[in-house]
Amino acid sequence: MTHRCAITFLGAARTVTGSMHLLEAGEHSVLVDCGMYQGRRQEALAKNRTIPAAARDAEALLLTHAHIDHSGNLPTLVKRGFAGAIHCTTATADLCQHMLLDAARIQESDTAWLNRKNEDNPDWVPLEPLYTEEDAQRALKHLAPHPYGEEFAPVPGLRSRFIDAGHVLGSASIELQLAIGGKDRRLVFSGDIGRRHLPLLRDPSLPDHPDLVVMESTYGNRMHAPAEDMKAQLLEVIEQTRARGGKIVIPSFALERAQEIVFALKQLVEAGRLAPIPVYLDSPLAVNLTEVFRRHRECYDAETLAYVEGHGDPFGFNLLSMVESTDASKELNSLSTPAVIISASGMCETGRIVHHLRNSIEGPHNTIVIVGYQAPHTLGRRLVERRPTVKIFGVEREVRAEVRVLNAFSAHADRDELLWWAEGCGEQVSRFFVVHGDPDQCDALARHLTQRGRKAIVPSPAERIFLDEAVDTR
Ligand code: ZN
Repeated sequence: MTHRCAITFLGAARTVTGSMHLLEAGEHSVLVDCGMYQGRRQEALAKNRTIPAAARDAEALLLTHAHIDHSGNLPTLVKRGFAGAIHCTTATADLCQHMLLDAARIQESDTAWLNRKNEDNPDWVPLEPLYTEEDAQRALKHLAPHPYGEEFAPVPGLRSRFIDAGHVLGSASIELQLAIGGKDRRLVFSGDIGRRHLPLLRDPSLPDHPDLVVMESTYGNRMHAPAEDMKAQLLEVIEQTRARGGKIVIPSFALERAQEIVFALKQLVEAGRLAPIPVYLDSPLAVNLTEVFRRHRECYDAETLAYVEGHGDPFGFNLLSMVESTDASKELNSLSTPAVIISASGMCETGRIVHHLRNSIEGPHNTIVIVGYQAPHTLGRRLVERRPTVKIFGVEREVRAEVRVLNAFSAHADRDELLWWAEGCGEQVSRFFVVHGDPDQCDALARHLTQRGRKAIVPSPAERIFLDEAVDTR
């Protein structure tokens, strides 16, 4: 019997989280990503607990990057019996050490809190965490790191390499070579595609003449301000807040965004554009991830490398305090002079940022600076929507602080940058499979590609597509 090649879009089909794709290559199978689905609690828990048998039985896994919506369900996969290697770049492996343990702690404390809250409810069936720190430790043992560009075979007959996706430290697109319908073909998974001219990172690399492309579409129909505007936007908001004696509170993702902001502030001060102001990075995860950034200079772009030559550590300067202990974090509440506080989580749902928001939201002299995507139903989204009051720790509070949204900060390519990347794949592409976007965004990107004479389809959740039929015979 002849084995055919197919991709089953197990996750992130017509949505942005829970990335997971199964590639059947002849008689072998590999998974690409195993992300956590993020949404309403009950639905998310149910989805994340369900690992399809074909995913569990895959022989290897290729991981594009360390973001939780791509890596966050690896501990569940291993717990259910996945036994293969998890291939990723060296920086992604180091980031995952911190990201997955942090995710496990959140799972454990969330379920403990819910169980406590329902202690007196006779109908309550105590919840188990999705996974524990021990489960995460076990999954981490499967990591098989590779430098960018190194060729390896996750299963026989499948040649793979990671190329730079320019999205976050260590992020990669995956180039694969395999026999489809008896011919040697190239298949690319884009992973999340970054932006050109982002600080720290190299620009996204273009794949080498793929025949088939699985491509993300987070911002398939939106445009961002140029990444070069980041510093100017930040400078303006800090100076305006300082002039009225307020604090600048920045909810930030611990990976990439926090490091970009610290680097931008350091450069602004060094250039004499920003007068000295105390800066606090108040997130133990962000502090740990910053250490990983320091170790992985091989991921820096030429500009950052030149900066390191001339100025040293991009993340260390005398105005910056890395806040690790809870007590030190609480002390920030009593600050009465202007300061910048960068804290997580990025969507203001958990972590120390919630305390800082409670402490600053009613002061009209303060500014809350939104620098990242805010999902529906999160506290961050309510701030973006400029609601007059928001609930923090169960208490309704008036939003008297200024809320500013800085749209130059995004780690995701916008519509034109995605189309640039798709064009760069070349004329020979037979099919684009558009994934990792909300329905309006993935449909729009597919339409833009079609208008340019390309064949693009948007797979449905769990749809299996045979590659022998998708590839043009030439
Ligand atoms: Zn990502």
